[in-house]
Amino acid sequence: MLAPLTVAGPAAGASLAAAESAYLDYLDAIGAVGYLESGGAREFRGHDLAAWQVLLKSRREVFDTALTQVAGASLAPGERDAVTAMRKTLAELTADDTTAGERAYVCADAQRRDLDYAALRAALVSCYVEHGNRLAYDGGTIDRGTALQLLHVTDDPLRRRALFDSFLPLWSALNGRNEPESPYRRMIALAAADARAHGSQIDAAAQAIGVSTADVERWLVQVLEAWRDANPGPPIEPWDFRYLNGAANRELQALIPAAKLLPVNQRFYADLGADLGALGVVFDLEPRADKSPLAYSDFLARGRERGGTWQRPLARVLGTYPAGGLFSLNELVHENGHAVHVSAIQTPPAYMDWPDTLFTEAFADVPSWSVHEPAWQRRYLGAAVAEPASMQALFANVMLDVAWSLFELRMLREPGTDPNALWTDITHRYLRIVPHPEVPWWAMRVQLAGNPGYMVNYGLGAVLTAEMRAATRAAIGDFDTGNERWYGWLSAQLLRYGAERDTRRLMQDLLGRPVAPAALLDQIKRCGAPAP
Ligand SMILES: [Zn+2]
Repeated sequence: MLAPLTVAGPAAGASLAAAESAYLDYLDAIGAVGYLESGGAREFRGHDLAAWQVLLKSRREVFDTALTQVAGASLAPGERDAVTAMRKTLAELTADDTTAGERAYVCADAQRRDLDYAALRAALVSCYVEHGNRLAYDGGTIDRGTALQLLHVTDDPLRRRALFDSFLPLWSALNGRNEPESPYRRMIALAAADARAHGSQIDAAAQAIGVSTADVERWLVQVLEAWRDANPGPPIEPWDFRYLNGAANRELQALIPAAKLLPVNQRFYADLGADLGALGVVFDLEPRADKSPLAYSDFLARGRERGGTWQRPLARVLGTYPAGGLFSLNELVHENGHAVHVSAIQTPPAYMDWPDTLFTEAFADVPSWSVHEPAWQRRYLGAAVAEPASMQALFANVMLDVAWSLFELRMLREPGTDPNALWTDITHRYLRIVPHPEVPWWAMRVQLAGNPGYMVNYGLGAVLTAEMRAATRAAIGDFDTGNERWYGWLSAQLLRYGAERDTRRLMQDLLGRPVAPAALLDQIKRCGAPAP
């Protein structure tokens, strides 16, 4: 077949510029619809949800037309890369539609046998909204995040058991009686089939840093072994794990009321050179019955050049923290890590997006781990916990993420595995948790149902977080109590590139070598033995 006639040179450049502009307009409509669907506001930039949905559709048509015109033009290699980057972001947006926005499936739909992979995941995420936002406890109801926070600070062991048991309706909705046909087990079989065809998120995370999935598994085990070795002691009941590792949470609880979470965040980020107010970050932190079951941050508007001046991207942060406390504080600092990342992106339009998820999640923990440093606590809370106890509180939660990563890696490899047995094995072997193979207590995280394989971005992400924290400290000095060079330096090194650079390149340039687990293993050694 003959090559099609092509438009060369400036005309191709002009049509690419038109496509890129239409692309940003379309992404802005996605951002606005996401914001309004999440219930964060009634309108944004003068339009309500219905108007933005119309704009979303028309802007997509404009973009598709523009992209078709570009595809017919002869492009320089850099221009072709830009088109590829836009297509990749579009594909990811299509795939990631289960954790936010309108719910097309309810939890009961998870019992149906006719749902495809995406629909079944959406139904399971609804279980986290329907059950997880109203767990029965103490004569009332609490949301899942509050229950997890309370598990760190509740002194009465019977009440901790009651908190743990409040998850039972959620767990049953996901995993029935652990029969091979349970909703979760049907979903993970579909996830494994999808991973065989397209690669899993775990494969993607491994590729992002240039290692194999087998290497990732080996590192996860190494990290869990380091925790086990740093924390000898008697077996722990699963409802006591957070409490026994949570002395720091309890000591600091009175100093972190809910009302203090945002002001403390604002002060810390201002000290890092990232004034959240000046960056225009939009917060949605008030409780609502139908609110997203997990905290997240996202683009509200993309950055772009207008009239020769750069307009920063706008970020929004959604979370619910009625109880305050160190666990919630750590999470909100993490979400704001995403927000300042978004604000720092300054790229050509085609790359105006997150980089690899692995890098994104790992970076958000660079500031959030600071709240566990005694120096941070002295400055921002007025009192500090002893270092071993504070590190233990931090890494106990990191280890759960690592354990979930290993769990998902193995479930996706062998989806016929009994998930309760696998989780019991991992948590007993490395976290010294008493076996309860009859209870699917692994099912605490929304990601396990909505986005199988996602947990590796936290578990393996911890390896990158430890590397980034050490490299940043070596380059510009300590930042746990603020460092005005922090935001500018990290923006220039890592954040500004958006989707323009992959994780491997970013980390190689930062470290001068490939990523390795040694920095994380060193941090885990700072943990002390659990209090009796
Ligand atoms: Zn995150």
